[in-house]
Order: sequence, then structure tokens, then C-alpha cells
Amino acid sequence: MEQSKPIVTFYKIFGTFCLVAGIICNILFGAISFEMITDDVDDSFGSFIEMCIGFIICMILIGVGKTYISMVSDFKIYMSWLAVNKTRSIKKLADGMGLTQEIIISNLNQMISSKILKGVYIDMETNQIIFSDDYITVECRSCGAVNKIKPGIGTKCEHCGTYIK
Ligand SMILES: [Zn+2]
Repeated sequence: MEQSKPIVTFYKIFGTFCLVAGIICNILFGAISFEMITDDVDDSFGSFIEMCIGFIICMILIGVGKTYISMVSDFKIYMSWLAVNKTRSIKKLADGMGLTQEIIISNLNQMISSKILKGVYIDMETNQIIFSDDYITVECRSCGAVNKIKPGIGTKCEHCGTYIK
């Protein structure tokens, strides 16, 4: 999991930056709009539109910032849980966090697509988190092709269909 550290740091800084920028912009817009109301500006409708756009941008920045900050903190919690728990069961992770499995799966998918979680995928059949390190290479007895399989779980050879374990 060491490999994802730079990107985790990047998201943490990026998230904090968005959040802080959003809050600062919001305060500035608040001050400007307060001034506009008290100053009795002629083009009040145009200014109102500009103000709204400004506030929307602020809210987006704050939202993006919060999303990344919570993703990084979730990631750290999940990783420390997975480090001590060998079953890698999503159900157990969900129970441990007090969240539903759907939330856990959507959070994990977000981490995978954001490249925070590398070499990991969700096995929906067994409801487990699979690390690519979990795979072992097995040579097929029939054709000699090298297959990557999960230890202890039998599968068919990718090339000739012979059952391998
Ligand atoms: Zn084979």
C-alpha cells in the first residue's frame, strides 16, 4: 500500500485547498454582496446573477474539498482495518464501520477510480476485497499455460479449460 502514498498526500492537499479556497471566496462574496446591497448599485439584477454564480462556485469548491478530505480519511481507516483483518470481507468491514455494504462498496469504488487504491478490486461474488498480491501463479497440468488464481479457490485454465487449483 506504500505505492499510493504520494497520491493520498496529493488528494489531501488538493481537498484542503479546495475547501479553504471555497470558504475564503464565500466570505469575500458575502462582503461584496453586502456592500452592493448597502451601496444601491444600478445594475442590481446583473450583480445578483454574478453573486449567485460566485456562490455556486464556492459551494462546488467546498463540496469537492470535503469529498476528497473524507475519501482520504476513509481510505486510512479502511487500510488500517484491512491490515489487521485477514478475511477482507466487505460485510465485516461494513459491520466494523457501522455502515451499509452499499456505502462501503461505493466508497471503495471511488478510491479505486481515484487511483488511491491500487491493485485492488471488489469481488462481488464472494463479497470480498481482493488485492492483486493475493493472487498466485499456477501452471496448468494439461497445457502448461500460466494462470493467475486466488489461493484455495479452484478455477478453469484460461487456455484449455482444465480445472486447476
Ligand atoms: Zn490449460
